[in-house]
Amino acid sequence: MQAGFDLIRDKFIDSRQIIAMSKTLFEKIAAREIPATIVYEDDLVISIKDINPQAPAHALIFPKRPIVRIAEAKEADQKVLGHLLLKAAEVAEKLGLTREGFRLVINNGPNGGETVPHLHCHILGGRHMQWPPG
Ligand code: AMP
Repeated sequence: MQAGFDLIRDKFIDSRQIIAMSKTLFEKIAAREIPATIVYEDDLVISIKDINPQAPAHALIFPKRPIVRIAEAKEADQKVLGHLLLKAAEVAEKLGLTREGFRLVINNGPNGGETVPHLHCHILGGRHMQWPPG
């Protein structure tokens, strides 16, 4: 009886595992399962136009292998995070934002305004940004 219970428990997939197994919105975009306007892509990161732009130019850049949010990034993520920032600046250049300036934003958690739990950096430009931010 106990052996049977252990078998069922071992086969049981809890909801956290299901969440970990299901693709994030941005993974689906990277896999071309959801359409998006791709601005830049390489092995590690992908940049797309934001579907709900908050400035004349608004792109996102995120790692293809998801990190949930910056507060959960690990030492092992250092390379991809550095790469992400360098490529964010390249995307800003590609969008013609370098000369006038631009803003990079990473929202973390509820107070940060995060809505998609797959780390991404916003690239915003084409207008003067306010400080403090809203
Ligand atoms: P955040 O609120 O920082 O998590 O940012 C999530 C961003 O993803 C928002 O600016 C959304 O407008 C954007 N977004 C959500 N769905 C899509 C989509 N299908 N394609 C492009 N951008 C999206």
